[in-house]
Amino acid sequence: MSGPVEGSASMNQGLEEHRLAQRVVSLEPSLIREMTKRAAEMNEVISLGIGEPDFHTPQEVVRKALGDALEGATHYTPSRGDPELLGALLQWIRDRWGHSLGIQNLVITVGGMGALTAFFRTVLNPEDEVLIPEPHFPAYRPHVEWAGGRVVHVPTRFEEGFVVQPEEVERALSPKSKVLMLNSPNNPTGAVIPPETLDALAELARDHDLLVLSDEVYDRLVYDGQRHDSISTRREMLERTVVVGSFSKGFAMTGWRLGFAFGPSWLMDQLLKVITYETSCAPSVSQRAAYHALRQDPMVFQRMVQEFQRRRDLVYDALHRMEGVRVHRPRGAFYIFPDLSHIAPRWESLALRLLEEERVVVVPGSAFGPSGAGCVRIAYTVDLPALKEAMLRIHRFLERIRKEGRVGV
Ligand code: PLP
Repeated sequence: MSGPVEGSASMNQGLEEHRLAQRVVSLEPSLIREMTKRAAEMNEVISLGIGEPDFHTPQEVVRKALGDALEGATHYTPSRGDPELLGALLQWIRDRWGHSLGIQNLVITVGGMGALTAFFRTVLNPEDEVLIPEPHFPAYRPHVEWAGGRVVHVPTRFEEGFVVQPEEVERALSPKSKVLMLNSPNNPTGAVIPPETLDALAELARDHDLLVLSDEVYDRLVYDGQRHDSISTRREMLERTVVVGSFSKGFAMTGWRLGFAFGPSWLMDQLLKVITYETSCAPSVSQRAAYHALRQDPMVFQRMVQEFQRRRDLVYDALHRMEGVRVHRPRGAFYIFPDLSHIAPRWESLALRLLEEERVVVVPGSAFGPSGAGCVRIAYTVDLPALKEAMLRIHRFLERIRKEGRVGV
């Protein structure tokens, strides 16, 4: 998750609300905006709040994309995408997901965000319900609501590693349920949905005729030698699943704003209409960069994954040793989501104190849904020495809070 999304809420005072769209004005205020603002005014802040790789896009990718721009890749592309990128991506999807797709199944989008918003606009009628396991990436709710739909939360629990449980999904079903949304590897928890749970969720989706939107933008960032797994690979699931992918996280390309979606042609044909009217196409130079990224030696990006895994281990080991902290070793993405509720039940104002007293930015878990209260999200998107220092500061802070006694917020 990037800064602008986390900081997207409005400060409502003084607004002439009647002149504005209620669905925008009613977005909940976010503490992150306030924290980011305060952090910017301080020295020696270590920000573990930012959901983007600290690595730059590899120079060769940048040089080649700029070379293509100099050669004239500066025009609109077809709405579906640059034909050469589409071809390379179809091969990539075959290699990673095992799907033999045609061009009719694939669309290039402006970030994974562009795919999310286009999907909801394509499938939702007023009051249709979207089942979303929480805690979740906060941008989901506005995407659903702006398309006229309704979010129905499916709670998850620390005890189950924040993995969505099929029984909980079943409990949340209603005659209006239309879409089940999944995000694995997960932002904010780093959880990866295990294969047997994907099997059960696929069965549930088939039995209840649900569409599935599977946000897999962290697909490359899985650890301990795992292979990325997707619900779209289960029996008959590609007929009802749209997978959202992105170049942002796994290729260190957040600023190029390049993503994609693949799914059944009956749906993707309609989604293409939304893309055409919304953005015409994704930026041509960024599409060239994505094409060159796919043609790089995969080790260039694999080394980033190895570095994230080292950081994950450092952060997990440090948190695990701290008194009063419960934590799972994340299996993917670059987030860890420790439960600090034994120290204090809520972390909105304590996260601000952590910033002010120790100069470390973390995100209160409640920003991602009610099941996140008592937790904080830490992004290990800074180098190992900075992480080590951040862990010392967090430890010092937690000890102080524990000494003050249980603190309610
Ligand atoms: N989905 C999840 C779960 C995310 O965390 C993010 C960004 O943080 C996105 C989608 C959107 O990413 P982008 O639009 O940069 O591809």
